[in-house]
Amino acid sequence: PVSLRELTATLEMALYKHSLDRQIKEINNELCLAQVELKEARKDLEKKVQERTRELQKTNEMLAAEIEKRMKSEETLQKSQAQYRLLSEHTTDAVWLMDMNLNIIYHSSSVEMLRGFTLQEIMERPFEQRVAPESLKLAFKVFSEEIPKVEADPGYNPVRTLELEYYCKDGSIMLTESKFSIVRDESGRPVSILGEARDIRERKRAEEVLRQSEARFKNLLQDVQSVAVQGYAVDGTTQYWNQASEQLYGYSAQEAIGRNLLDLIVPPEMRVDVAQAMQQMAETGQPIPAAELSLMRKDGSRVSVFSNHTIVQVPGRMQELFCIDIDITERKQAEQDRIAREAAEAANQAKSIFVANMSHEIRTPMNAILGFAQVLERDPSLTPQQVEHVRIIARSGGHLLHLINDILDMSKIEAGRITLNEADFCLHDLLSDLELMFRSRADAKGLQLLVERDESVPRYVTADEGKLRQVLVNLMGNAVKFTETGGVALRVRVKAVEGKTVEDKASLWLIAEVEDTGPGIPDTDMDRIFDPFQQAATGVKAGGTGLGLAISRKFVEMMGGELTATSQIGAGSCFRFEALLAQAGDIAEQEQPALRCVVGLEPGAGPFRILVVDDIPDNRALLCELLRPVGFEIAEASNGVEALDVFNRWSPHAVLMDMRMPIMDGYEATRRIKATAAGGAIPLIAVTASAFEDDFEQVMATGMYAYLRKPFRTEELFEMLGKCLGLHYVFADDTADAPGLVKAAQLTAESMAALPKLMVEAMRQAVEEGDMVRLTELVAQVEKIDSATAHGLQVLTDRYDYEKLGQWLEKGGTDK
Ligand code: ADP
Repeated sequence: PVSLRELTATLEMALYKHSLDRQIKEINNELCLAQVELKEARKDLEKKVQERTRELQKTNEMLAAEIEKRMKSEETLQKSQAQYRLLSEHTTDAVWLMDMNLNIIYHSSSVEMLRGFTLQEIMERPFEQRVAPESLKLAFKVFSEEIPKVEADPGYNPVRTLELEYYCKDGSIMLTESKFSIVRDESGRPVSILGEARDIRERKRAEEVLRQSEARFKNLLQDVQSVAVQGYAVDGTTQYWNQASEQLYGYSAQEAIGRNLLDLIVPPEMRVDVAQAMQQMAETGQPIPAAELSLMRKDGSRVSVFSNHTIVQVPGRMQELFCIDIDITERKQAEQDRIAREAAEAANQAKSIFVANMSHEIRTPMNAILGFAQVLERDPSLTPQQVEHVRIIARSGGHLLHLINDILDMSKIEAGRITLNEADFCLHDLLSDLELMFRSRADAKGLQLLVERDESVPRYVTADEGKLRQVLVNLMGNAVKFTETGGVALRVRVKAVEGKTVEDKASLWLIAEVEDTGPGIPDTDMDRIFDPFQQAATGVKAGGTGLGLAISRKFVEMMGGELTATSQIGAGSCFRFEALLAQAGDIAEQEQPALRCVVGLEPGAGPFRILVVDDIPDNRALLCELLRPVGFEIAEASNGVEALDVFNRWSPHAVLMDMRMPIMDGYEATRRIKATAAGGAIPLIAVTASAFEDDFEQVMATGMYAYLRKPFRTEELFEMLGKCLGLHYVFADDTADAPGLVKAAQLTAESMAALPKLMVEAMRQAVEEGDMVRLTELVAQVEKIDSATAHGLQVLTDRYDYEKLGQWLEKGGTDK
């Protein structure tokens, strides 16, 4: 038996087999399906591959076409480059190609000639090193503006012209006009930048020259209202005549046109020349150069023109000449005036040099005349009459000197060589001096003299004391000279200058009036008398030069004021002026230089050796005559060379040096002495007759100690020597106390005491009253008793030395 178990197992087996078979069947089915799908897929794939291959083929063809096209465009580019090259190699301009990054891809060989670089060098240089900084900035700006536009728009092809500076190989800079344009390929793509540069340095220079000449021309035109233009045919017939020509020459266009230039405006003496010039222009076709001409107006008067010509070929007609005339009459006149002025100035200069030389020539002998008069005056052996004669010589000499000084002043004024020398001084003293000075002259004529100083007048002021004094002396001198009865008054006051305080410079007006009761001045002479060398009838009669008022007026003007006069015939005149002053602080009262008569050196002093250098023997003799009696030892030299020799051999303590000498002048001699070891410490005093004050500086620059102007006063000479050698003198009025000295002086205590008491009393009274006329009479009486004493008293009287007179008279007349 089959067991159930076995049966079950067999059944299960059958069932399993059945399901297995089914599964196999299913798999087979699926396999079949898959095979079908696969077949289809393969078909698909093959189709796609075919399509792809076709596409590729197409692309390939396109590429080939493209390549061919490219190659063609390259060829054209090269061709065009070759053309450029050909062109560029034959121009003096520089031509180059840059890629869009500004690297040079081509450059014409002219760069070598223009800038000195070889082609290799220029190709290697970056843009920044080829172009100067400013130009670089400009170029970059333009490129950065243009390149994006060029790239964006194939139709945009700008050409930009820039003025650029390029470096040359030697470091110099070439100014160029550079043109930039764009090169595109066939497809319109920008591929390079074409640059062309032209050296414009020469052109710029020419432009500058043109600009300057234009400026000159404009300058010329500046004072010209209008330009006269005329046209002429070659034969000279007027064809055109503008309005300015009408004004310039006085002919209307109607009158001028058709008439010949030669009959119209060319003056007779120029006609041949102008006709020739016209012919020459017609033949050569070249205008004659522009020129200044003097042409004729209708009314016959002359007009100066600057005449320019151009030749114009008028179509259908013959050539025509155009004339452009500029009126330069005024300019010409101004130029002539200037030439005349310069000539006058030169003549003036020559005159003042002449006057300076003349005055030097006169001063030199004057020095001897006045000096020896002073020497003689000291001689006790002279008779009273001789003394009087000597005084006349001295007085006349003094007068002559005054005259020369006036003439010199005038010529200095005319030459513009006078300047103000301002300094602080005591105005009150100046006024007292004037009073003292004119008192005796007024007394002698029986005139009243009044000097009125307003309380407001400050004591110390800053001004040119010398000029102020000269003006006042001149006005007072005239007043006293011309007045016979009545009197003379000097009134002085001050007024504040508006808007100025006391501390300011020129804060005060000094107002001075000199009034007299003289003959008066006729109205007709009023203006004249202020001119140089002009005198009214009274003046001619009284003598004088007529220079005083001219000089005074000038001086017053220099001091900021004006000198005026009013007068009434028979009643008198009043001269009035103002001058600007500043109030000065207190100044130490200057001691009046004592005009004392030196008779000797202090006993025991010296010896002192003085070297006197002067080419004129008289001048040396005078100095010797003055110095020897006083106790100086003297050596002489007549020029600079001798002076150096004597200086080295003799070692003087001081040198008195003339400046103008032959062989070697005083300037050179002084410089040489000062350069020696011994000379450095020795004082040299210039003794010169030079006319101009400004020579002073030149003289002092040589190393001079001081400056003595010929003719000098004896006292000045002694004072200067005394100062530089530290000397002490014995004076005439000290001789009583200085035994053992040559008694050259006339006044002694004994001789004074010996005079009659009454006489001394009378003299004392005369001194107190300032009555110099009376005093002079009294001194004349003393003469009969003791001429030496009389002489001594007269010297003091002449000097208005009231103080000394008073002191001596105190000592007098005690015995009787
Ligand atoms: P000078 O006194 O040398 O002649 P000025 O120039 O000082 O020269 O004077 C010129 C002229 O003016 C004198 O010659 C005289 O005719 C006249 N004049 C000047 N001052 C007076 C015055 N105070 N009274 C009359 N006439 C005068």
